[in-house]
Amino acid sequence: MSGPVVVSGAGIAGSALALGLARAGIDVVVCEAHPDDGADAGAFLTLAANGVRALDALDAADAVAAVSDEMTDLRVFDATGAEVHRSPLGGGDETVRYRCLTRAVLARTLRDLAVARGVEVRHGARVAGATPGADGVTVHLDGADDLHGCLLVGADGLHSPVRTIIDPQAEPPRPIGQRVYYGSSHGAGTGRPGDFHVFRTGVQAFAAIPTPDGRTRWFARVDDPVPDDAVPDDPVPDDADPRAALLAVLGGGTAAEIVAAAEETFVTDVHDLPHVGPWSRDRMVVIGDAAHAASPATGQGATMALEDAVVLAKALRQDPAVDAALARHERLRRGRTQANVVASAAMSGHPAEGADPGETLPDEVLHTHLDRDRPLP
Ligand SMILES: Cc1cc2nc3c(=O)[nH]c(=O)nc-3n(C[C@H](O)[C@H](O)[C@H](O)COP(=O)(O)OP(=O)(O)OC[C@H]3O[C@@H](n4cnc5c(N)ncnc54)[C@H](O)[C@@H]3O)c2cc1C
Repeated sequence: MSGPVVVSGAGIAGSALALGLARAGIDVVVCEAHPDDGADAGAFLTLAANGVRALDALDAADAVAAVSDEMTDLRVFDATGAEVHRSPLGGGDETVRYRCLTRAVLARTLRDLAVARGVEVRHGARVAGATPGADGVTVHLDGADDLHGCLLVGADGLHSPVRTIIDPQAEPPRPIGQRVYYGSSHGAGTGRPGDFHVFRTGVQAFAAIPTPDGRTRWFARVDDPVPDDAVPDDPVPDDADPRAALLAVLGGGTAAEIVAAAEETFVTDVHDLPHVGPWSRDRMVVIGDAAHAASPATGQGATMALEDAVVLAKALRQDPAVDAALARHERLRRGRTQANVVASAAMSGHPAEGADPGETLPDEVLHTHLDRDRPLP
């Protein structure tokens, strides 16, 4: 390969890919637009069993376990507060536990691990353009010298500039007509730390996860029709008091008590990408949210990003011809990630009309893809 793999974005997908490439002995440079990693500190996510398997393939499962909380059971409560369902998360597989942590901590942990393993991560390095050539790609950075690499990977999120460089006709993200409120409360809500509590309330979904240090992390999905004058690229609505706005639609009950005790409340408009064109062109490719951002209902976005990183790193290790590796990666990943986008949109109550339905992957096939020692099909 002529030059390093240049990765745009040191979020979850980009940092995980850096780990996978470093493990495969492939030179990599990561460019992160933000000057530091302080953004997004409040947003938490859950990592399902497949995400933990992907972390294991990157030798990162222990590092993430050290900064996250283990999750145990799914418990559902009706409007009167009575428990109507309880089951172990992950179907009771004791070997792979779900984890809960903030998005920022996950990205930082993966990034720090990559740096410790010799990866160069440049902060404040915004990818602004790219010019493909015969032997690779020249990456243009805002206010800094160009970089030459054998491949540019856009791991640069929902509003990915690399997606638009690959496909100038790419559709902008779709605002689905729903908001997610999330936050952390102290001294409200009860239950065993690590249990995922779902409360049937007046909103689309409300869930809470008590943490071992006495806090409760929670989120609420609330339908909110998209106004005609919505700005497509503006993900954060300008709510003066998101907690009050949420309390107004929650009514009473345990969910409202938890939100009333919130130390911090965040809100974001939900977007997804139901119709994405080609993932790659001329030594450029997108992964993670840049390729297949889903609404959060299935809780699989970060996990899909981790899976992408494992599979792309394996494909590049296995196939020295970059174009062939990218084709293999897309063949193995496209159907599964598209199925998640479509399923999540449907679960949210905002189906992705006219979208390719994608394809579910049997567990044993996925496990082969994520097994670091078994070759990709
Ligand atoms: C409310 C909410 C709840 C969620 N809950 C879950 C959950 O429970 N479980 C789950 O698995 N997923 C969840 N997700 C989805 C998950 O957060 C995303 O799928 C995941 O963060 C995608 O990771 P990524 O690395 O692809 O993108 P991002 O995390 O967006 O990272 C992109 C990175 O690229 C950088 N960047 C952008 N432009 C440039 C540029 N031009 N040059 C250089 N760098 C650039 C950004 O600064 C950022 O660091 C949730 C999402 C939301 C909104």
